[in-house]
Amino acid sequence: MVVRLRLKRTVKVLVLYTVVSEILFFLHRVTLFLLHEHRVEMTQRKIIHVDCDCFYAAIEMRDDPRLAGKPLAVGGSADRRGVIATCNYEARAYGVRSAMSSGHALKLCPDLTIVKPRMDAYREASREIHTIFRDYTEIIEPLSLDEAYLDVSDSAHFGGSATRIAQDIRRRVSNQLHITVSAGVAPNKFLAKIASDWKKPNGLFVITPDQVEAFVSGLSVSKLHGVGKVTAERLGKLGIVDCSQLREWDKLALVREFGSFGERLWSLARGIDDRLVHNDSRRQSISVENTYDVDLPDLRSCLEKLPELLDTLATRMARIDSSYRPGKPFVKVKFHDFTQTTLEQAGAGRDLGSYQLLLTQAFNRGGKPVRLLGVGVRLEDLRGGFEQMELFER
Ligand SMILES: [Mg+2]
Repeated sequence: MVVRLRLKRTVKVLVLYTVVSEILFFLHRVTLFLLHEHRVEMTQRKIIHVDCDCFYAAIEMRDDPRLAGKPLAVGGSADRRGVIATCNYEARAYGVRSAMSSGHALKLCPDLTIVKPRMDAYREASREIHTIFRDYTEIIEPLSLDEAYLDVSDSAHFGGSATRIAQDIRRRVSNQLHITVSAGVAPNKFLAKIASDWKKPNGLFVITPDQVEAFVSGLSVSKLHGVGKVTAERLGKLGIVDCSQLREWDKLALVREFGSFGERLWSLARGIDDRLVHNDSRRQSISVENTYDVDLPDLRSCLEKLPELLDTLATRMARIDSSYRPGKPFVKVKFHDFTQTTLEQAGAGRDLGSYQLLLTQAFNRGGKPVRLLGVGVRLEDLRGGFEQMELFER
C-alpha cells in the first residue's frame, strides 16, 4: 500500500517536472526568438544613396534645351586653362571626363560645347531635392550638391519599404526638377553607394540583406570604400582581385599587410560597414513663415505683413553663430491654390525696402490670394570645404 502510494507520488512529480520543464523550454525558445528579432531590428539598417546623373550638365540641358542631345560639358574655357567639372553622357562617349583640362576635352571631342558653371542654379536645384528627401527622413548626409545618403530605417513611408521610398524620390525629382537621379538601396553606406552606380544613369538598384553575401563576393576590390589605385595594386600583387579572394585572408594577415585598414578590408569583404549616416547640421538658410487663417487678398495686405515677419527673422538671425555669413534675402509666397514661388536676389540688402521689392515681384508671378508668406536669408558657410568637394562631380 505504502509502496503504491509512493509510486503514485513519484509519477505525479515526474509528470509535473516534465510539464514544467516543457514550459521552461518553450519560454526559453520564445526569449531567444524575441532577442534575435530585436537584434536583427537593431542592426538591420536601410540606407539609400541618391546621386544625380551628370547634375550640372543636366541642369544646363534642362534650362536650355538647345544644349540637349549634343556633347556638353560644364567647366572653364580652354583658352584660360580651365577644367571640366562635369559633362553629359554624349560627351562621355568621346572619353571626356570630369577634372580633365578643357583643352584636352576639346581635342577628344571637337564639337563639345563648354558652358560656364552656374553654381546658384545648382544650389537651388540641390535645395529642392533636399526638400523632397526631408519628406521621408531627417537623417540626410550630403556628400556634394548632387549626392547624399539617407537613413530611412525608421521611416514609416510605404510600410517602411526603402525600395519604394527610393522609387518615389526618383519619380518626384524627375517630375519636379526635370532631371534624373540614380539610387542605390542597401543595408549600409558602402553598398548603397555602389548600388546607385550599378544602374546609372536613371536607375535603381537594390541589395537586400540576404543578397549582400553573394553581391559582395563577386565585387572587385577596387570598388571597396577607401581602396584607391595604390591599394588595389598592392592587393593585386597578393593575388587578391575580388572580394571572394579577399575573404580567404584572415583579419590578422590583412592587418599585417595593410595596418589598421586591414581590419576594414576584412569587414568590407563581408559586406560589413557600420558607419552612420551623419546628419547635415549645417544650415543653408534661416527663415520665418506664416500661414494666415484668412487668405491675404492682394499685394497691399501682403506688404502689411512684412514688418512683423522681418522682426521675427531678425531675432532668429541674432542667434546664429559666427561661422555663417548672411547672404541673399528671399521671399516665399504660397497662393490659395497651393502653387508657390520663391524669389531671391543676389546683391540685394536685407532691409524692409529690399523685401518689399522682392515680395512685389513674387506676388505678381501669381497675382492670386495668398495663404502663406515667408521671408529668409541664405547663409554662407564660412567653414567652407563643401565648395571644393563639389567641384568635380561624377
Ligand atoms: Mg552625380
